Amino acid sequence: MTPVEQLFTAFNTTADILKEELSSTYLEALAESGENMFQGTVLQDELNEVTTKRLDKVYKEINLDSFSNEEIRKGFQLAILKGMKEHTQPNHQMTPDSVGMFIGYLVNKFVAKKSFRLLDPAVGTGNLLATVLNQQTDKEIESVGVEIDDLLIRLAFVNANLQKHPVEFFNQDSLEPLFVDPADAVVCDLPVGYYPNDLRAEQYEVKAKEGHTYSHHMFIEQSTKHVKEGGYLFFMILMAFLKVNKPQCSMSSLKTI
Ligand code: SAM
Repeated sequence: MTPVEQLFTAFNTTADILKEELSSTYLEALAESGENMFQGTVLQDELNEVTTKRLDKVYKEINLDSFSNEEIRKGFQLAILKGMKEHTQPNHQMTPDSVGMFIGYLVNKFVAKKSFRLLDPAVGTGNLLATVLNQQTDKEIESVGVEIDDLLIRLAFVNANLQKHPVEFFNQDSLEPLFVDPADAVVCDLPVGYYPNDLRAEQYEVKAKEGHTYSHHMFIEQSTKHVKEGGYLFFMILMAFLKVNKPQCSMSSLKTI
């Protein structure tokens, strides 16, 4: 078995056991299992002794330190993909590796600093963020991930822990006020569609003249407010990436490269 297969098998076997025992969904069970693997113990008190022993045996066979971050990310990603097949939601798609690799490459090329802050305002499962982080070698990166969905952010939290990435997570609507320090770069696979809260959309320059405003437009505007002067914004929409040119960031100060 390859290391990725070995990790996937461990995540999958334990998630299946936990799903059965906790009567939960596969993805909920996977988040629990990932947390167990990170903590090196079975955290669910309600399980009987036999189940705890079965789980423990699988976790003991995995020494996380012997795997690379990319192997861990890929093993966990395969298990998430399996879980997402169970409950498909169009806006919950994980960012594919090809996109993550390309955005990671761009971050590497454009952000020259050795130490910087990175923000993903729609972090989902954390797969894009982790793919980008794993490509930034010899750099010290403080990241922030924001996500509205509480299950996805749990998966992102576990994903970051397993790969030892220091990430601060906020479980909230990113289009409401964000209390995060300005970032040097923003990466985001934008959720595309209408934003239902017209009252909040009123606060945005990009608000629609009539009806609902596009949330992807609002995400771009919101990102300009949380990036430093001279910072970079890398979005997956139809793939645009933007540079902030003026000290006072506004939508009109963006230059598409
Ligand atoms: N990059 C993520 C990954 O690798 O898993 C996938 C991002 S997915 C295309 C878009 C994400 O935006 C979804 O996880 C969705 O729940 C989240 N989202 C949608 N509207 C949001 C909002 N207003 N605030 C925060 N997150 C939001």
